[in-house]
Amino acid sequence: MNVTGQTRIVGVFGHPVGHSLSPQMHNAAFEHLGMDWCYVPFSVSPQNLEQALRALPALGVVGVNVTIPLKEGALRAVDEVVPPADLVGAVNTVHRRDDCLVGHNTDVEGFTRSLEERGEDMTGRTVVVLGAGGAARAAVVALARMGASRVWVLARRMEQGAATAELARQASPRSQGAAILWDEEGARRALAAADALINATPIGMHPDHKAAPPIPETWLRAGMLVYDMVYTPEMTRLLEGAQRRGCRAASGLRMLVLQGAAAFTIWTGRAAPVEVMHRALANALKEDCPGL
Ligand code: NAP
Repeated sequence: MNVTGQTRIVGVFGHPVGHSLSPQMHNAAFEHLGMDWCYVPFSVSPQNLEQALRALPALGVVGVNVTIPLKEGALRAVDEVVPPADLVGAVNTVHRRDDCLVGHNTDVEGFTRSLEERGEDMTGRTVVVLGAGGAARAAVVALARMGASRVWVLARRMEQGAATAELARQASPRSQGAAILWDEEGARRALAAADALINATPIGMHPDHKAAPPIPETWLRAGMLVYDMVYTPEMTRLLEGAQRRGCRAASGLRMLVLQGAAAFTIWTGRAAPVEVMHRALANALKEDCPGL
């Protein structure tokens, strides 16, 4: 990569940002397409977020991804919010249009496209979502927009669960959401009626990859979709169990690639080389977490 005064800059704001694999994914895409662009990680603390975003026009930076814990602050800091980022309550991609900062949420698109690619039809489905944080909010909005009729949010904090579940109805009048307290009885009841299970908690993520959400394998039924938003490792304990039970197991790695591809297109106006990005990300993960 040869960075010059002509090189167009995009990047990621995070705190910490060292773990982000997005630079490898996007720089591989730029290289593949022969584009004079460069993706740079910036360590930005929450208290400096607004100042850092406001500096983008002065620096001529085209846009940035915004990651944990800055996504909610970015929603407040941008000038325009493109739906459904307003509903999700989080911005993960900022695009500078002249001096105007436009906020998007590409997690919803990444999750949706990852299901569509697999041919998963969510119409009329009952879906259980584990967790009620940012990833769960994106999943609930995406599921409702895809036609899921019931979305049950299993949460250990009912207030957070209720706010996340409420997004289903807000995203689609055909969809109902409800929060269920995540104890053994609540989880058993919810799973008994579910067509799909989505893990939107960090349980099972490297370096705690030997952990799995406390859902006994016997509650998973053959044919059920089990989707883990965790992508380190690609095959989590939850997904291993799901495969043993004859479920359709889906890793969050594809969502990560596709949310990145959506951001790439927002900034560059070009179709993203999705498979190049997927390979770069998978290789970066292997280097980052050897043996997984
Ligand atoms: P977050 O905002 O911190 O939310 C995490 C949620 O999980 C909260 O509701 C939290 O409950 C719950 N939780 C955490 N540990 C739990 C436990 N032991 N038992 C029960 N509930 C628990 O995090 P996030 O941004 O939503 O991210 C969640 C996961 O999704 C992360 O692993 C992240 O890497 C992944 N993710 C993947 C993608 C992708 O592209 N594949 C995109 C976004 C996120 P409390 O609030 O009660 O702690």
